[in-house]
Amino acid sequence: EKNTLTKLLAQLNAAQRDAVEFCDGPSLVIAGAGSGKTRVLTYKIAYLLEQGLPPYYILALTFTNKAAKEMKSRVSDLVGEKKARQVWMGTFHSIFSRILRNEAESIGFDSNFTIFDASDSHNLVRLIIKDMKLDDKVYRPGSVHHCISMAKNSLITPAMYEQNAEIREYDRKIKQPLIFEIYRRYQERLRAANSMDFDDLLMFTNILFRDHPDILENYRNRFQYILVDEYQDTNFAQHLIVKQLAEVHHRVFVVGDDAQSIYSFRGANIDNILKFKSSYPEAQVFKLEQNYRSTQNIVNAANSLIKKNVGQISKNVFSKQEEGEKIEVISAFSDFEEGVIIANKIARMRVEDHVSYGNFAILYRTNAQSRIFEESLRKKNIPYRIYGGLSFYQRKEIKDIIGYFRLIINPQDEEAFRRIINYPARGIGDVTVNKISDAAQIHNTGMWEVLSDPLRYDLNVNSGTLKKLSDFRALIRHFIDQNEKLNAFELAQEVIKKTGIAGETYQDMTPEGMSRAENIQELLNAMNIFVAQRQEEGNDDIRLSDFLQEVSLLTDQDTDGNSDLERVTLMTVHSAKGLEFDHVFVAGLEEDLFPVAMAKNEMRGLEEERRLFYVAITRAKKTCTLTYAKSRFRNGRLSSTQKSRFLSDIDHTFLSSESDAIFVAHAEREDGFWGSLRRKREEDTVNRSQTPLYNFQNEKLSPVTQTSSGSLSKEADELCKGDIIEHERFGRGVVSEIESAGSDKRAFVDFDSVGRKQLLLKFAKFKIV
Ligand code: ATP
Ligand code: MG
Repeated sequence: EKNTLTKLLAQLNAAQRDAVEFCDGPSLVIAGAGSGKTRVLTYKIAYLLEQGLPPYYILALTFTNKAAKEMKSRVSDLVGEKKARQVWMGTFHSIFSRILRNEAESIGFDSNFTIFDASDSHNLVRLIIKDMKLDDKVYRPGSVHHCISMAKNSLITPAMYEQNAEIREYDRKIKQPLIFEIYRRYQERLRAANSMDFDDLLMFTNILFRDHPDILENYRNRFQYILVDEYQDTNFAQHLIVKQLAEVHHRVFVVGDDAQSIYSFRGANIDNILKFKSSYPEAQVFKLEQNYRSTQNIVNAANSLIKKNVGQISKNVFSKQEEGEKIEVISAFSDFEEGVIIANKIARMRVEDHVSYGNFAILYRTNAQSRIFEESLRKKNIPYRIYGGLSFYQRKEIKDIIGYFRLIINPQDEEAFRRIINYPARGIGDVTVNKISDAAQIHNTGMWEVLSDPLRYDLNVNSGTLKKLSDFRALIRHFIDQNEKLNAFELAQEVIKKTGIAGETYQDMTPEGMSRAENIQELLNAMNIFVAQRQEEGNDDIRLSDFLQEVSLLTDQDTDGNSDLERVTLMTVHSAKGLEFDHVFVAGLEEDLFPVAMAKNEMRGLEEERRLFYVAITRAKKTCTLTYAKSRFRNGRLSSTQKSRFLSDIDHTFLSSESDAIFVAHAEREDGFWGSLRRKREEDTVNRSQTPLYNFQNEKLSPVTQTSSGSLSKEADELCKGDIIEHERFGRGVVSEIESAGSDKRAFVDFDSVGRKQLLLKFAKFKIV
């Protein structure tokens, strides 16, 4: 055992080791990017475990699910999977939703409560604004929800909000004096629907601890060590949870970098880290200075940039890695060319330098920028994955199906109820839905209750409608019954079939319809994999609620749980926090884009944008390429741009002289396809924001088309034992068995990459080779 400890510590430098070994009280590591903060935190968990601290006494909090997952796998490499799995490790939201489910009854919720995501919350706010007959141009749902969210993050309940003169005065000033009332109703509606939004997970944890000292005591005693990564981005609600839990043992270890604080728009409070010592007077502070991630050029460039911020703790960060290539700045003729240039460079580096796709990341400031890169990558057959705005679970067809899932698990869920009561269309119109909603309000009950017994609640609808309602209710009841017997994946198939979603979607041969069908198949794939993975872990009773719990915690930073080494990563800079890639492209370095227009008027805003740029550059290990476009389509119009001021913030000795990409772009234009595309694009600038740039199906150019569902099912019919297939996700495999259960034909396939998998042939995406 002593041996293991020595081995662990040998993989750290002296300063890191000190931070790991100090266990007597609160401590803080404050240090620049890439200096090993997350590594220290991970090793500290391993160190504690090796010292004999039982894993379930350790609480480790990360910012994203992805970070939690990576940490789990690191710890499990160090101390074995069994121990690692028992550590309480996850995001604030996931850990505390778990605790809230355990303790739901003490705060008046049912343990099956639904978690609203941002767009559910928006919808509810919108509804309330409508109910209150307010002008939604004045009370814009997004900004009202933001106010509510900020209030919650500061632990201001509706009652406190109403009584707070200062806030009310401010609301009057911005001509939205009724936000307090919207907030109150919003909170009531959530509770009536046995639901919480994301911010509630933190607020109710605090309320739970405030109102139930015995429960707090219990968790306080349990968590003997609390560790928090990315502490600079915690908000007040999170800070307070940690502080209360640490009260008994005082062993709290946080790491962070004030220069990477980028979430103030969500209520993150940089003071939590800056004033850590006043919260914990006996705290020990550690500094780390050596960057192990990046080349000297990248570290120096990033240092020179962040020096331009006034409000910053000055830090000495150096790298002993090789000097490396200078940071390349490329200007493109247009946003479109920017996409082409990056795709070309990736393709070239892959061939010439043997870099696999998984080592590239393209980072951008706003979600909307991703589409251009998707297109340019697809054109070159470069596989990619997106985190962020196009988040899979945000797509309408997926949300509709998830709506069914939610209602099955929690029939009180009104948001889900409204979403699907007439989807697919079954002749239950808005008028009827409003009547149900009114009846529910009058009788102080839920919509599902009214649906279950319309006559009792005097629902004034004709007999035809009554029949439709009772059919709908029977359908949901049927699923609720099935939920007792079927696993998550089986039930999902049932839902998609019985509701008519399958029929409707799979018959729609428009490109949009096909893409919807692909998304639905992908959902089933995901569920199939989810069930299979849990089964592999020896847990064979995987219910819809398990899947839903997993999905409801996926934030837009964590779209897809499957790690995939052979894909280029596309993400916003915000979601790249804490991650690292060999080769990073930061795109769109233009005024009003990065920095965003809104931030420019305010020094604090500008400094936060600069920190964001600092985060972007410091993700790179080997090369960092900065690009901007001289013209860009925005809001449906082509406008010329100015390059970002941040480019001149970087000391020019670390930049390679700017290459002008017009030449490259010109060469591309010689190519007939790009040429015509370009012309087409210039012609329909107006429609561009609504319609896809070009239509893959019609152009017959994209490999995506050739592997779309139609041609695949034919292959599925012919599949025999012994065939070798190429599966879209798992790669090459040999068919070891084929099994028919009714119309559901399955194959058992031994894949080189992942071992044996069961494929449901009508959904599986593969070709026979
Ligand atoms: P960020 O601020 O971006 O979150 P960080 O401070 O958390 O960065 P890490 O991600 O922990 O930094 O470390 C950056 C990289 O350097 C990782 O690949 C890590 O494994 C490596 N690293 C850190 N310390 C050492 C060390 N002592 N020896 C070898 N590699 C190290
Ligand atoms: Mg980190």
